[in-house]
Amino acid sequence: MVDVAHELNWAGTYGYLAERIVRVTSLDEARELVTSGARVRPLGTRHSFNEIADGPGVLVDLTGLPTEVEIAADRRSATVTAGTRYGVIARELERNGLALHNMGSLPHISVGGATATATHGSGVGLGALSSAVSTLEILGADGGLRTVRRGDRDFDGSVVALGALGITTRLTLDVQPSYRMRQDAYSDLPWDVFLDHLPEVFDAAYSVCLFTEWDGRVREVLLKSRVPDGAEDVEVPDDLFGALRMPPRAPSDRSTPVDGTVGAWCDRLPHFLIGGTPSNGSEIQSEHFVPFARGAEALDAVAGLGERIRPHLHTAELRTVAADPAWLSPTQGRDVLCIAFTWRKHADAVAALLPEIESALAPFEQRPHWGKMSSLDADAMEALYPQLPAFRALVRRIDPDGVFRGPFVDRVVRP
Ligand SMILES: Cc1cc2nc3c(=O)[nH]c(=O)nc-3n(C[C@H](O)[C@H](O)[C@H](O)COP(=O)(O)OP(=O)(O)OC[C@H]3O[C@@H](n4cnc5c(N)ncnc54)[C@H](O)[C@@H]3O)c2cc1C
Repeated sequence: MVDVAHELNWAGTYGYLAERIVRVTSLDEARELVTSGARVRPLGTRHSFNEIADGPGVLVDLTGLPTEVEIAADRRSATVTAGTRYGVIARELERNGLALHNMGSLPHISVGGATATATHGSGVGLGALSSAVSTLEILGADGGLRTVRRGDRDFDGSVVALGALGITTRLTLDVQPSYRMRQDAYSDLPWDVFLDHLPEVFDAAYSVCLFTEWDGRVREVLLKSRVPDGAEDVEVPDDLFGALRMPPRAPSDRSTPVDGTVGAWCDRLPHFLIGGTPSNGSEIQSEHFVPFARGAEALDAVAGLGERIRPHLHTAELRTVAADPAWLSPTQGRDVLCIAFTWRKHADAVAALLPEIESALAPFEQRPHWGKMSSLDADAMEALYPQLPAFRALVRRIDPDGVFRGPFVDRVVRP
């Protein structure tokens, strides 16, 4: 077990206040820490932007545990260790002719941290990454391991759990036969045309992501198209509601190919290359989930703030995620449009803008991403998550002494 000196999150926007950060290399070391009497919080790859992973005692960094990717005999699921990055899991699945249903923009994020916060990719009908989880193995405060399976009473409350129910050590994920994809970019979709055809635009491929700077247009539409089984390629349009297909982009050592070539699912679904360095972390992110059915209205409301937003923005990305039953999933009970902001590191300006954006989106009952910046307080969250009282009761039952509590959970969940 090693005490690690990194005190900041990946983006360098949050300094952990915990007494210690310990990278464990075995389950026994993790067990020793949870039974030591200290307050403990699980820590993944530190890609969250807020204090969600922090705690007053020990942060248990799981990225030093041996990586395991065990494929079930029926090839329908794979069991992985929680500190493993999606990129590692994806490569091993692909080597065995298997695939995940989706990936986030960044393959460097741990599966444990992504699951705890309902991290997602994009795609009509595709659930958050956590929707692929069928079994969780969780280290509790008594040092014992408990297994929670899809269909169990506590399952829907335990998947997206913000690290409040213990340290997830292993997860079983649904997998499917490997598939191939291509990525094509389209430039300059007029804003009004987009709003008039929003469902059709998002339906144009397996996974669709849009980028805008709130300047009256969608600057770029990214189609991630799935090649049908047995086919060599898939046809894509040259003109997408007036946005024209861009020439193949030059190869990059950071981003997955956007050039119309066909390749493995895991080399097209994320925006960033598995082996590459994504960016230097010079950013802050916030993200707001609104019902897909009211997507155009919600975007119109944010567009009104465009001039104020732009000076502080790198870009905004629009994606879709299908509903799932996890109690604390921002997609719980409804298909959503995700409005994600990648901000410049203008912390004060972003903090001032967030309440305005969230108030513009309040009529749409926007739920914020758990791992990104938000100004919403506990009362607001209570109104947005009908199952929050049930989650609170679960936290009290599973962790009565509050071993796994931290400032974020205390503030938002109020166990
Ligand atoms: C560049 C960048 C790109 C991103 N892209 C996307 C994206 O495409 N889609 C999206 O939805 N989000 C995205 N995010 C947000 C990110 O996916 C989430 O913040 C996610 O939680 C990060 O996982 P992590 O392993 O870094 O978790 P951490 O930040 O380390 O922890 C987050 C939470 O998970 C808990 N946790 C971690 N490991 C465990 C475990 N083993 N058991 C129980 N709880 C655990 C922690 O206690 C904490 O509450 C992005 C972030 C960055 C920085």
